[in-house]
Amino acid sequence: MLYRWEDIKSKIKSLRSLKTRIFLFLLLVGLIPSCYMQYGILQNYEARAVSVRTSEVQAQLKIIANHLIAYNYLQDTSSPVINAELEQLSNLYGGRVLIISGNLKVVKDTYSISEGKTIISEEVVKCFRGESMSNYDAGLGYVEMTIPISETVTAEAGEAGTGETKEVVRGVMLISISCDTIHKTMDILRNKANILLSIMMLIIFGGALLLADFMVRPLNKVTVAINEVAEGYSDKAINVPDYAETVHIIDAFNKLLARMKVLDDSRQEFVSNVSHELKTPITSMKVLADSLLAQEDVPAELYREFMEDIAEEIDRENKIITDLLALVKVDKKVTEMNITEVSMNELTEVILKRLRPIARKRDIEVTFESIRPVKATVDEVKISLVLSNLVENAVKYNKENGWVKVILDADHQFFTLTVSDSGVGIPEESLDHIYERFYRVDKSHSREIGGTGLGLAITRSAVLMHRGSIRVESTPGEGTSFIVKIPLNYKA
Ligand code: ADP
Repeated sequence: MLYRWEDIKSKIKSLRSLKTRIFLFLLLVGLIPSCYMQYGILQNYEARAVSVRTSEVQAQLKIIANHLIAYNYLQDTSSPVINAELEQLSNLYGGRVLIISGNLKVVKDTYSISEGKTIISEEVVKCFRGESMSNYDAGLGYVEMTIPISETVTAEAGEAGTGETKEVVRGVMLISISCDTIHKTMDILRNKANILLSIMMLIIFGGALLLADFMVRPLNKVTVAINEVAEGYSDKAINVPDYAETVHIIDAFNKLLARMKVLDDSRQEFVSNVSHELKTPITSMKVLADSLLAQEDVPAELYREFMEDIAEEIDRENKIITDLLALVKVDKKVTEMNITEVSMNELTEVILKRLRPIARKRDIEVTFESIRPVKATVDEVKISLVLSNLVENAVKYNKENGWVKVILDADHQFFTLTVSDSGVGIPEESLDHIYERFYRVDKSHSREIGGTGLGLAITRSAVLMHRGSIRVESTPGEGTSFIVKIPLNYKA
């Protein structure tokens, strides 16, 4: 039972192949009409041959019926002329002729079996009423028919009052003729048709097999081409122009390939940037340590100074790693969003409170203007990152005695956070790049003030995860404004 089920399953599977389906379809389209045609032609021939034979015999029988009346055969069956005629007919058509008189008695049987017997069959009785019939029995292969033996009688003028002629049925001829010859011809025809059909079947089978293979070949080409790319033999755009459909599939695949290439390139670039960034502090530490080791009797102050520098580099390394981890966290899937209802006013106050002491060191004033109270359903940690990165940057890239202003506003759909500063500004050509990982406008200055080039990348990622937008306006030497717009209600 188990085996049979497996068998059926594998058969169903092979039916799922397009090639098998095309093959079966072509086979059916080729075979059904051929078989139907063969059957139709043979049936048609049989019906036609029987009808020709029947009318031929009927015509002859009508002549004989007239002779029967003329020779008064129903009363006297000794007429040699008629007997010869009947004999000839029955020999010619391989049949039997019964002549039945008005009292339903058989007066003549060419097989001499039923002479003298009475026949009460429906067909005979009907024929006496003027309804002759012919019946073909395909199984036994003969045609049975009745023909009335009728006489034209002129009614007496006094009797009928009209003097008209009428047909009076005096007797009936019951004939059965063999259709052997028709059957023999049919057998010959059927044999020929079968041979022809077999040849056609072979041609259709072979043709369907070849055509199915030919039609599916472009799809196989697509598979081979995609496999070549998948197995790494080639990373070039592939091309199978055979069908419009294959062109569409290949187009979609090439787009996917191009996208994967971009992702791969950006991953490689990211890895090389990360390595480079992580290597810089280590190189500095190595130089500092080496120069201490190279000298003998180094004074304790110098040691201290160098150790402070080394500690600074360690801090920097630490910051880069922290930022990288934050970036990876922010970049994780949307499903990892931890959405809660957050009062944006309170959150901004908390973050500014934490950052004000750093700003104060450079006499930078940080102010907060809340146009209205805003409650939003967001991921609090990610929005905190956005805000603190923007305010930290506004402080970092500011002048002594400068200012930083945070404005919070909302409409019925979005809330807007604007972080403006009176800082150094961003040159126009850099505006498009500031969100790239590790991009810094002034590398050495950014490094001095502890920038990693990852802050805005993290910020942008967090904003996009909320389906929000971030925009920057800046005038070099005057200041910068970052405008972040985020939906009040997060929708996954
Ligand atoms: P970093 O860690 O270097 O600050 P970010 O990704 O936060 O990296 O910022 C990228 C670059 O954009 C910074 O190096 C800086 O040059 C520039 N930048 C960011 N914010 C400001 C700002 N408020 N004013 C001027 N320049 C800015």
